[in-house]
Amino acid sequence: MSKTTIIYQAYYYQRPLRDSQSAFMELTTPAWRWDRARLRDFIAKALPRRTESRLCRVAIILVLVTDVPIRADGKGIPIVLDHLAQGVIVVPDDASIQNRKTAALLSEYIAESTAATLEVVQESKIPLQGSRIYVGRTRFAEQFSLRLSELDADGFVIHPVDEQNLVIAGATDWGTEFGVCEFLEELVGVRWLLPGEDGTHVPEQSEILGPEESIRQEPASISRFMSGFPNVVQNEWARRNRMRSRIGFHHNLLHLFPAEKYVKTHPHFFPIQNGKRYLPGQGVLGGWQPCLTAEGITEEAIKNINEFFCAHPDATSFSLAVNDSGGDCECATCQSRDTGENNHLGVRDVSDRYFEWCNQVVTEVLKSHPDKYFGCLAYYQVGMPPTEVELHERLVPCLTQDRMRWFDQSLKKRGHELTESWAKASPTLGFYEYLYGTPYMLPRIYFRQMAENYRYANQQGVRVHYAEVYPNWGEGPKLYLALKLQWNPDEDIDKLLDDWYTACVGKEAAPLLAEYYELWEEFWTSSELANGEWFTSSNREYLNFYSPEYMELVSEDIIQRSRELLELTVGKTKTSKQKKRAELMLEAFEYYEASAYSYLASQKHLKTISNEEEALEFIAITLKGGAMAEQRQTLLAKFGDHPVLVHPRPISIKQHERLRCEAWGVGSLWPVYPWLDKSDHVRNKLNEVSATGWNVRAAQAKNILTKWSAQQEQ
Ligand SMILES: [Zn+2]
Repeated sequence: MSKTTIIYQAYYYQRPLRDSQSAFMELTTPAWRWDRARLRDFIAKALPRRTESRLCRVAIILVLVTDVPIRADGKGIPIVLDHLAQGVIVVPDDASIQNRKTAALLSEYIAESTAATLEVVQESKIPLQGSRIYVGRTRFAEQFSLRLSELDADGFVIHPVDEQNLVIAGATDWGTEFGVCEFLEELVGVRWLLPGEDGTHVPEQSEILGPEESIRQEPASISRFMSGFPNVVQNEWARRNRMRSRIGFHHNLLHLFPAEKYVKTHPHFFPIQNGKRYLPGQGVLGGWQPCLTAEGITEEAIKNINEFFCAHPDATSFSLAVNDSGGDCECATCQSRDTGENNHLGVRDVSDRYFEWCNQVVTEVLKSHPDKYFGCLAYYQVGMPPTEVELHERLVPCLTQDRMRWFDQSLKKRGHELTESWAKASPTLGFYEYLYGTPYMLPRIYFRQMAENYRYANQQGVRVHYAEVYPNWGEGPKLYLALKLQWNPDEDIDKLLDDWYTACVGKEAAPLLAEYYELWEEFWTSSELANGEWFTSSNREYLNFYSPEYMELVSEDIIQRSRELLELTVGKTKTSKQKKRAELMLEAFEYYEASAYSYLASQKHLKTISNEEEALEFIAITLKGGAMAEQRQTLLAKFGDHPVLVHPRPISIKQHERLRCEAWGVGSLWPVYPWLDKSDHVRNKLNEVSATGWNVRAAQAKNILTKWSAQQEQ
């Protein structure tokens, strides 16, 4: 059966139509398939709002009339029925390794879900009977006007051609891979919740059907990358959730103009500092920048970058980021390009000279390599946008900040102002984020603030997301949400969370797990935290994770309630995988619990003891703190070998000295000494402690009692 369907596709363009080829690449909203009324409504609402934006100059509507054959019963193509495979997976005869692996991935997950195995075959060896899922850019797929080349490199189409044939194909192999991930999520119900064997939810199905309608997607952000995953298992998890780096933006001028080469041949490329030419020695990474107005330096940069792209045709970008720690050229020509002002960080603003130079380089390199991007850092001396120069749209300045801060309204306002001043100067932006899990000793989550930030970022033209993460998987869905929202910031955060909790621990346990995370979301976005010393004292881009003082705000109530909720969660799970995932969350929590109790015990030692009751409480806290401090070390040793719970930034590293605090919880019992005279209860309690065997507290109690007895005899 064939039916004529009208497909409306609404596109926003960021550039005038005369450059429509390039404008297609800047597609910012996905295509929809709507009825006329909804489309009219959409235009009425969207156009006035969007055209106010300087970025959005033209919007057009394409109306395509096409014949889309559909199944008579209106259902999707049968792939598995009653646990039996109904066809094959087809790859191009000359499929790349990535394309073949993607097809194998599809087959494996369908088999895990249904027990039916779909064979992967080459296009020239297709059996006559049965349905076919074409994966990648097969000859078959190329017959249809799927407009794959108009998609972003990570975009894809899942297209039911007729009753027998389904195409999953991207603009590139990456797009195809993400298309298969989408198919597995949407049509099989797979969720890559957490890394590791038990982290993937694969529901048991007896039947799998293709989609009834075409799915066409591309990411809101062209580059979605996180660093700090400690092993292959965790990196694989991120890749399934469509993490992919396409834009490099780290310090790079030192590599573009290596000192060992240019000091001899082009000393004038190096900066004037304090009236003299500075020539960096070998291995000097920071504290200098090239003289960006030196004769021939722009041409040399263009030549070097062109050579790089010729040698690495698959590279998607080149970083033009400044070297670390300033050291800009002070020659008169360079300085004449500057505003002459200091920027918000109190250092000389050199953004105009720098971005003017970057623009020249980018414009020229694009003539030979038109599909490339150029990342850089909006950082330190180039932390403010330039005043005279508008950045090339292929140049992506990345703004650094821990945007958890934005739950505080005044900091949000400041952060938004800076972002918006950049958005005015640069059509394409990047957000450099600090999502740090470890070494935090509590689950540091702020899901709703994250969702708000990603939506805002998208509105401001942020197309690149990078984050230092060093995961702490006790934070549950945090990184899952981040990757989902980087792909599509319009996803509903509450739906995403509900879906994650349910897939993770099952329907009955899900509300309990949700409540656990809500406790911590409230903790990290509370006014107590916002007004506290720890939060307000950090003057860096990231919050002060080197300091444990945020722990002071933890109450015993939240720790006890957390344990209660997680134990209930474990109890309410139905399948063994759900149970294992709940237990994993509980185990991760035990480290938070041990850290909190031992830290709090060390804090309470500061108090004075003014009665018997307080002396007994003091002993109780010290004992618990001691036990928890030991538990903390035991857990850390155990996590060291764990593929998921391992701490990628362990407290054992040098910078984390203040988090180690071997002294936490092993606080002294000596402050109760004066109470031995006054209270039998205190003495009896210490006797009990001294009888608990070989441990620090028992030994200490024994010493205290021995000294007291000796004094009595005198
Ligand atoms: Zn200079």
